Parts: sequence; C-alpha cells; structure tokens
Amino acid sequence: MADKRDYYEVLGVDRNADEEALKKAYRKLAKKYHPDMNPGDAAAAEKFKEASEAYAILSDPQKRQQYDQFGHAAFEQGAGFDASGFDFSDIFGQMGGMGDIFSDLFGTGRRQRNPNAPMQGDNVRARVSISFADAISGCTRNVDVTLKEECATCHGTGAKPGTSPKICPKCRGTGQVTIRQQSLFGMMQSTQPCPDCRGTGKIIEQRCPNCAGSGYTSSRKTIEVTIPAGIDDGQSIRIRGKGEPGRNKGPRGDLLVEVRVASDPEFVRQDMDIFSNVEISFAQAALGGDLRIRTVDGDVIYTVRPGTQSGTRVRLKGKGVPSVRNKDVRGDHYVTLTIRTPTRLNEEAKEALRHFDSLTGNSLGSVADAEDEPKKKKKSFREKMKKAFDGE
Ligand SMILES: [Zn+2]
Ligand SMILES: [Zn+2]
Repeated sequence: MADKRDYYEVLGVDRNADEEALKKAYRKLAKKYHPDMNPGDAAAAEKFKEASEAYAILSDPQKRQQYDQFGHAAFEQGAGFDASGFDFSDIFGQMGGMGDIFSDLFGTGRRQRNPNAPMQGDNVRARVSISFADAISGCTRNVDVTLKEECATCHGTGAKPGTSPKICPKCRGTGQVTIRQQSLFGMMQSTQPCPDCRGTGKIIEQRCPNCAGSGYTSSRKTIEVTIPAGIDDGQSIRIRGKGEPGRNKGPRGDLLVEVRVASDPEFVRQDMDIFSNVEISFAQAALGGDLRIRTVDGDVIYTVRPGTQSGTRVRLKGKGVPSVRNKDVRGDHYVTLTIRTPTRLNEEAKEALRHFDSLTGNSLGSVADAEDEPKKKKKSFREKMKKAFDGE
C-alpha cells in the first residue's frame, strides 16, 4: 500500500479534473491495458487494475473527497479496495465476460469451473424440534430426508445400459462455449456454459430407463442424528456425506440439521447459564431455612440466609447448560428469590402479624383501621405455589 501511486497521476489528470475528464482518461487507459487486448501480459493487467481502482474512487464524489483529504490512508483501514460494489457498466456498457475480468483481477467473484472436475454435492437441510430438557442432556432423533443415490442401472451415467454418453460435439466435452461479440474495445470473448449439454460436456443419446437419464434415484432415508448436550436453539449439526451426491466422483455434500429448542415455562437460558425465579415466604426470608429449588439436574436444597431480601439472586454453580464441546464444562443456574406476600390469612395469623408489627416498628399504628376483609379470589398461581411451599 505504501508504494501506491497517486490516483490522479494514474489516470493522468490534474486534481481539478471533472467527471467527464476522469471518464475520458479512464476509457483511454482501460482500452489500452484491457486484459483481452493484452492476453498474458501481467504488467498490462496490473495497469488496468490500477486505473480501474483509481477511477472507481475518483468518480465517487464522497470517496474522492476522502481521498483528497487523507490520500490512500482513507481506504486502508478496511479490507482495502473492493471493486465488487462498483458498477463499471456505465463505462463499458453491456459486455460479455466483463464481470469475470473484474472478479479475476480483484479476486471477488467465482471462477469458471471445469465441468469434468470432481465437485462436492450440495448440502441438504433438515430441522428437528426438541424439548428444553433434551437440549440440556443431549439426545438422538431420527430425521427423514430424501437422498439421491447413484442409479444402480446406469451407475450414474444416465445412459441406457450398453450405451455410454457421447462427448458433446458443440463444446468438445469442455462444457463451455466461447462467445465473441462486438464491444467498445473491439471484439470481446467470453465463455458461457454450453447450451447443448448444459455444461456437462456429455450428451446422452439413449436415456437410462431407471433414472430417465438423470443418473440418480431418490429414496426416503431415516438418519439418526446425535444431538450433543448443550445445543442451543437455532444451532445446526453437520452430518458429513449425507447430502446430495457429488459430480464426477466428487464427495457427497453434507446434511445440516437445524435444531429448534422449545422454551421452558420455568427456565430461561442465556448461552450456558440458566435463570429462574423462586418464591419464598416472608418467614423463610426473615428466619432463613432450607428451600427446595428445581434445576435441570433435579431438585436441590438451598439454605436461605436469615434476612434475605426480595430480589436476591443466588448462584447454583455448575447447574447450568453443558458446553456443546465438553459436557463436563457447565454454566451456572441463577435463581432470583422473590418474597411472596400472604394473601389469605386467618384471624389467628393476622393477629400474629399485628403482634409482630407492634414489636418491629409499628408500621400499622398510623392507620386506625388497617384491617381489610380478605377479598375472595380465584386460586392463582401464587396460591398454588404457596401451597406447594407450605406443604414442605
Ligand atoms: Zn440410470
Ligand atoms: Zn456441450
């Protein structure tokens, strides 16, 4: 980057050059150094690239301003110059193969493949849904997928047994044809997939009756998927070699199984930690005592400290989610203790509370008739929780 030439110098224009002058200068250089005009000339290709980059920057008013202010440093923080976002079609018009030239020069696009080279097959996607608990412990699930297999009759050639595919005469088996067309710079060449053989390089004259010439047969397969403990919602499991068959003896693609994990009514997961809320009675909070807390490992007994405030968070170390990579490494379980206010008290309990209050600051004293008739309520979740707790 340090030895980069000044963009104005590259294009041979002065610093006040307007858009038209830039375009004119670039056209001239592009025509002179275009790779198709200078086949095999690396120096020319480099000049073409340099001019294209200079023009891409200077023809964009915002980038030009940055360049004028900071020089090349303006574009050095990121990945460097990226030609992929720039539309050269304004300059070159519609030209076959133009995209390929920029891909090759700037390394942004895909390259033409040899149709006869081994190619890995496509990946196949599937999805399974599992419970929260199964995600913590790990499980296995059967996934049904439709998999293509090489046709047993023609062994994947697609040709009727006893015959074999012919080399495509149009492309001579290369799968590509060269198109020549007139352009701004004169005759241009570009390569396209052969229309006769659709890029395969082969023509099947008599199709295999079993696979109708495709070379494959499809069947429904059940695949057992081992889901590791600790998997999170939306993560995928890759099963190698269970995707589409490869071409030209290439390897099969993979099966990617996306795992959906159901939410739990009580536990909330965040990465490897689990969060939940547990209600405790006022007496438990004030006096302390043992509390039964549900975790993914089953119930644990936690000793509440005397004088625990509502909202206190306790950490149950190692009771969280196992790491997908190593199930012995686990997150923690955080429990927020909330003090449950009693709602249905009998007269004796109320009296005890009044007595308690008079001993602890007399907060009821300022209100003459503090006692309310208890309101009839439906059995709420809170009530049920209270029952459950009181039962222990
Ligand atoms: Zn066949
Ligand atoms: Zn062909």
